[in-house]
Amino acid sequence: MEREYHVCTGCALLCDDIELREVENKTIVDSACRKGVAWIKNCQHPLECTVDAKDATTQDAIEKAAEILKNAKNPLVFGMGNSSLNAQEKAIELAKKTNAYIDDTSSFCQGPFVEAILNDKIKSCTLDEVRDNADVIVYWGCDPSNSHPRHLSKYSYFPRGKMRQRGWEEDRTAIAIDVRKSDTAIICEDNFYRIPPKADVEFAQALTEALSGKVPKVNFGMKPKEILELANVLKKAEFGVIFAGLGVVYSMPDLSSMENLLEALNKKTDFHLMPMVGQYNMRGFNHLLFEKTGYINRVSFEGKKTDHGPQCSVVEVLKGKKVDAALIIGSDPLSSLPGSIAANLKEIPTVVIDPCKTFTSQIANVTIPAAVTGVECKGEAIRMDGVKVELTQMKESDKMTDADIIEKIMEVI
Ligand code: SF4
Repeated sequence: MEREYHVCTGCALLCDDIELREVENKTIVDSACRKGVAWIKNCQHPLECTVDAKDATTQDAIEKAAEILKNAKNPLVFGMGNSSLNAQEKAIELAKKTNAYIDDTSSFCQGPFVEAILNDKIKSCTLDEVRDNADVIVYWGCDPSNSHPRHLSKYSYFPRGKMRQRGWEEDRTAIAIDVRKSDTAIICEDNFYRIPPKADVEFAQALTEALSGKVPKVNFGMKPKEILELANVLKKAEFGVIFAGLGVVYSMPDLSSMENLLEALNKKTDFHLMPMVGQYNMRGFNHLLFEKTGYINRVSFEGKKTDHGPQCSVVEVLKGKKVDAALIIGSDPLSSLPGSIAANLKEIPTVVIDPCKTFTSQIANVTIPAAVTGVECKGEAIRMDGVKVELTQMKESDKMTDADIIEKIMEVI
């Protein structure tokens, strides 16, 4: 019998080798990590369909959501990192139709790196190229052993690849740069470079100096010899990659120091950077919005012109109380944004579309449960490396997809 493989949407690695087995009426999930199994087995607290905290039919909830968005002058559409490309496309259409601000979590996480890649300012590559070719791998400000548990085994450090037939330490050098000794840093053993918080720019500049033959200096007690040794390993790579996590994003006010480092490295060898995107389809939203507007996030469709910039970010529009309604799709701003900013959501009518209960759904006026894409319905998504992936359906469900819910809301509007 032909084996059937599924794609896990538990994180942006989108592992495509997941198998399901039925054993004594229980579903066993093979190949997924602990995070993936928990995701596939579904949320423990499914979202209920409600209007003003009372049980409602899906049709009533959709009509109320449409009324809220139609009556709003400046609504906010936010989230979509855990939605299919189809749902994201419809959310962008809805935002246009309602003159809304539209934004996603990338505006306060990996957005700058994705933007730099889409604008050809940073050289990137695919995960398959990393597995097949990479001999020097830098985990900078990230801990994939916990955030993307199969990253090291499936694509980066451990696996064998076309040009790396032995894999692991025989074929690859793994390096960690971080403020703490994470589980990934422990695997990198002696190649762990501990830097103080907010020292990423200084360290990137010191590495760039070392690559150009100067004696590098930093103000945090790391000896020039150590930095020169690291620069030497990087420049001898045949195919190098930096996996950049939130630790880097949050400590680099702009990416110029990282761009300069990559430019210096690429004068000597072949080096790439890939952002450690978390939600399975955050990059999909960035790619779609970029295609349609030239921007990856923080867009306003108010008026005839598309506005873009920090003033259109979820943080600024909530802080400045610029929005009078919100549609939150597959996201939980109440737990991811600073409390004082997210609290402003309580003052405006809010609609939540999500498979699971969240902090935000608890304060929402309308909640509409959606199927989990990749588990309860099919779809498409863009993996953390920019590759499009088809998502399969793993189990039957009578829940509507988020794409269908958004479509129905638009029909009523
Ligand atoms: Fe799922 Fe991510 Fe785990 Fe792969 S690493 S099985 S995509 S949660």
